[in-house]
Amino acid sequence: MEEMKKELSGKVALVTGAGRGIGKAIALKLAEQGATVLVNYKGSGERALEVVSQIEETGGCAEAVCCNVADFEACGRMVEEIIAKYNRVDILVNNAGITRDNLLMRMTEEEYDSVLDTNLKGAFNTMRYLSRFFLKQRSGKIINISSVSGVLGNAGQANYSASKAGLIGLTKSVARELASRGICVNAVAPGFVDTDMTKNMPEKAREAALGTIPMNRMGRPEDIAETVAFLAGSGSDYITGQVICVDGGMAI
Ligand code: NAP
Repeated sequence: MEEMKKELSGKVALVTGAGRGIGKAIALKLAEQGATVLVNYKGSGERALEVVSQIEETGGCAEAVCCNVADFEACGRMVEEIIAKYNRVDILVNNAGITRDNLLMRMTEEEYDSVLDTNLKGAFNTMRYLSRFFLKQRSGKIINISSVSGVLGNAGQANYSASKAGLIGLTKSVARELASRGICVNAVAPGFVDTDMTKNMPEKAREAALGTIPMNRMGRPEDIAETVAFLAGSGSDYITGQVICVDGGMAI
């Protein structure tokens, strides 16, 4: 019997920061739906290769690609190599992100710049180089992983909130630029998700954060991946420039 065609069969997806955490869950989900997944990483090479193996073991296609998304020229080289090999990219998920939390008064210039460079400029870099191909294809899905911190603000995260709010503005502007060519650009704003990013929080801060979640539990990386898969598929073809909070109600 012929195998049923999956939602993302024949599509090529680039997921940044996909060796672990939310990015990994997104890579696995998109592969499960039939996409060939390019698993980008910066430092987690071994973990990215494990994600690739996991996808291949279940009959999917994936490749690990190393690139610091904060580096404009390196992003250009990554995109060139991907296009040379696959000749297309249909889905771009800008997930790579870091935190360097501190109170404004104590925040160093390096803490501010590094967070903006990775979280905001990183998404600009990949979109800047890939938009040419999306435009040529007259199709594409770009999904930027923002945060409720970018929607609500968060004490101790001026740099991170600025980067994630900036990412929302970037998403809306690029959505307007590319909409007439059938390219959808949306943002997902996760709340408080159980990954390396949140595991080293002091117990008190964790309890306080949990207290702000109406659903009373942390999110799972898979919760975010489900929404990203929806935005990557044809079911969201008439949605662009939106921010979907996946946060157990934090931003209500
Ligand atoms: P995580 O577990 O700390 O993982 C961060 C990922 O980003 C890693 O895969 C890392 O890759 C990658 N990365 C960092 N800098 C990079 C760079 N310069 N170039 C390429 N990749 C880079 O974090 P997470 O919780 O999964 O977060 C994923 C995204 O969700 C981030 O954008 C984060 O801001 C956002 N988010 C998370 C939460 C949460 O509660 N966890 C909430 C809201 C939003 P390497 O390990 O290879 O360096």
